[in-house]
Amino acid sequence: MALEVLEGRSCEGCTACCSFPPIRTQELQKPANLLCPHCADGQGCTVYDTRPTVCRGFYCGYFFIEELGPEWHPNNSGVVIRSEHFDEDVVTLLVLRLSPFLVSEEFAAMVGGWVAEGVGVEFERVGPPGHLPAKMRMNELLEEAVAARDLRAMHKVFAWSLAHIDRSHVWEPDPTVLSSELG
Ligand code: SF4
Ligand code: SF4
Repeated sequence: MALEVLEGRSCEGCTACCSFPPIRTQELQKPANLLCPHCADGQGCTVYDTRPTVCRGFYCGYFFIEELGPEWHPNNSGVVIRSEHFDEDVVTLLVLRLSPFLVSEEFAAMVGGWVAEGVGVEFERVGPPGHLPAKMRMNELLEEAVAARDLRAMHKVFAWSLAHIDRSHVWEPDPTVLSSELG
């Protein structure tokens, strides 16, 4: 997948990636699923000029995939497309909240398209604050429904998989201890 930031895309007040990932740099350590102490919720970074390199370089998939309409913006969809494994042809969909978007045709069409093309698709959920997220590979689970173009069956697999992660995953505590030399 191409990794060129598209013109006209912006965070628009989303601060999801200042919260869900663990950050482990020399100047900033932050456990997973905890809002960075330097983030003003809904506004963004308060140490923008000195933010770590890892923050400067991160854009979610909304910034790279031209086919995604505004309904895919994390603020609207509740889904963050993680871009870290695009070069391995894997798309990880971090589902932050269970929104009506997950049962929309747009979501099913895009996920089904990736599965049909052989792109790896993973669903991911955040753990409790201070715990690492958990993910599940979706391709084999969705193969039949995608081949049959059966939207209802796809929705069932989506719902089952997300519930399965939430109910049965043993969330692993993130040992990262909050500390910052910034600002
Ligand atoms: S998840 Fe995407 S839209 Fe949200 S803050 Fe991060 S890069 Fe911006
Ligand atoms: S330093 Fe700034 S950009 Fe990085 S996680 Fe914290 S608030 Fe977000």
